[in-house]
Parts: sequence; structure tokens; C-alpha cells
Amino acid sequence: MPWCGVQPGTLLAMQPHDFAHRWDSAAPAVPRRRLRVATSSPSRLLRQGQSRRCRECGNRVDWYPRADHRPIGLHPYELPTCPVPIACHWHLSGGIAYRGADSAWCRIPHAAVCPRRAPDSNLTPTLTELRRRLAVLTRRRIDAGLFTPPPPVTCPTTAQPDERPVLPIVEILRIRYLAEQPLEELRCVSQTRRGHRCPHPVLDPAAPGGVWSSAAISSGTGQLALPTDHLVLYDLNGVPYAEQLRWRTQRCPAHMAANTAPDLALAGWQVFDPLTHHTHIRTSLPDSPPSLRGPEADSTGPLPSPTRRRTTCRGRGRNR
Ligand SMILES: [Zn+2]
Ligand SMILES: [Zn+2]
Repeated sequence: MPWCGVQPGTLLAMQPHDFAHRWDSAAPAVPRRRLRVATSSPSRLLRQGQSRRCRECGNRVDWYPRADHRPIGLHPYELPTCPVPIACHWHLSGGIAYRGADSAWCRIPHAAVCPRRAPDSNLTPTLTELRRRLAVLTRRRIDAGLFTPPPPVTCPTTAQPDERPVLPIVEILRIRYLAEQPLEELRCVSQTRRGHRCPHPVLDPAAPGGVWSSAAISSGTGQLALPTDHLVLYDLNGVPYAEQLRWRTQRCPAHMAANTAPDLALAGWQVFDPLTHHTHIRTSLPDSPPSLRGPEADSTGPLPSPTRRRTTCRGRGRNR
């Protein structure tokens, strides 16, 4: 019995040529489109993976870089501008967070409404209500076993040795930062062709290196109460601007040159604060310059000659 008027033995071309399967029914090999970041984009950070949970309250926070590359955690939803204090107005443009609002809607820092932090006395009723709702969500996540709040900070009765590693202080483009890891372990933040984070280090033995130097600790408030007035930092001010920018953006030389590769993570620099980061202050120069260990060192050639040391004394107002 012919089916719909088609005689048995007739070959049916049921699909257009573009969607035809191969003889073994496997899907045709369609070349993947590779998305690239526009060279004019102010940010190369992929949004994927930039939403995390606040460590204190467990609510969602979206992280964005600011114009000066410092990260800021924003509440994931926009709010009408009217009931939000001007100091909390943020807007996004090209993946960068800027202060102020360019529309009737704005984003706000999560820290302003985090229920585990002391509320600001100037919080408007709208933000107070939002903070209350976030507190309810925190409670629900705790009750469901999805979140465990961190224990409250208590003052130890006896002095305990601080076992956290001492992280290096690095001065880049005249600004002091605390690195997130030792210099040898700082890893490129860019995405490889396979979609993974680049395994290569930022430290490049073939590139101009910084110098370990001793510099004065400055405080903008004049209320510094530290046992020392000097610290040791890794000074990159003497290397070319492009090289300092590469360190600041935390990329390996190859990904700095290929400016269309997206970033998978934010650079981990924190602006150095002498009081907050006082446990990372070192007063003696290291015995050796930072050097790579393992396969990276082998693949990038011999280490340069030992980096020279320098002792400088800088005036106030260098930290920002
Ligand atoms: Zn929070
Ligand atoms: Zn890289």
C-alpha cells in the first residue's frame, strides 16, 4: 500500500542537505563557532562563574571589576534608583562596574544589605526590607543544611602562632597590592582554547623583572600603630608600562598578547592596607628573587641573573 502516494522503493529526501546525517547516522561534524572578546571591550571577564555565595550570609553575589580593576560584589538584581542612597548607586557598562546610575535603575553593593553585617544607620526602608528578606533566605538555607555560617571571630586567650602563609606585597603602577598567592604561583586568569583556565604563571623569567625593596609604610590617617615603619615589597615600577599592566591583569605573556582571549577569573590583587594586612608585612629582604619551579621553569628557559635589591624610602600618600 503506497504511503501518501509514494511508491515503495522511492528514496525520500526528508531533510535538507545541511541537516543530512552521515551514512552511519552520526551527526554531521559542524565546525564550532569560537566566540572572542571584542578588542574594544573594556572587560575580558566571562560572566560565567562570577556569581558566588557570600561567605557570611550565603546569598548570591555577582562579582564585577571596577574601572581600577578592583572587584566589587553586587546584589544580583537591579533596584529602582529612588529609594536607594546615592552612595549605593552602581551601574554596569561593558562588564565594568561604575559608581552612579545612568538610568532609573541601579545595582547596589551586597555589603550594604548583607544581613550578617552591621546595618548602616542610613539604610533606607527599601534597603532595610531587602536586608530582612536576605536574612530570611539565609535562615532557610541554614535550616535546609545548604549553608553553614562562619563561626564568630573571638579573641584568643593565648597567643596562637599565625599559620597562614605570608603573602607578597607588590607595587604595580605606583599602587601597592597584596598578592593572593606567592609570586611563583600566581596563575594566568585567561581561558585557553579548550575552555580551561590557563595553567601558565604570570612570572616570566624572560621578561623584565621587579626588585625586592624596602619601603616606608605610610598611613593616610596618621594613626598607624605597627611595630615597624618599613616593609619589603616587590617593586615593579621600574619595568615597562606594558609589563606592569600584564602583572596587574594577571595574565601570562601569550594571553596578554592575544587580547581576544576571555578571562575566567578576576585578578586576585587586593589593595594593600597596612592595618588590615599587617600579618603579611615582611621586614627582611628575601634571599633569592622569585623563580619558577617545576616544568614551567624548564619550558621557559634559564632564570635571569639574580634580581638586584634596592632600599628606598618613600613618603606618605603612596598607598591608595
Ligand atoms: Zn552577605
Ligand atoms: Zn595565559
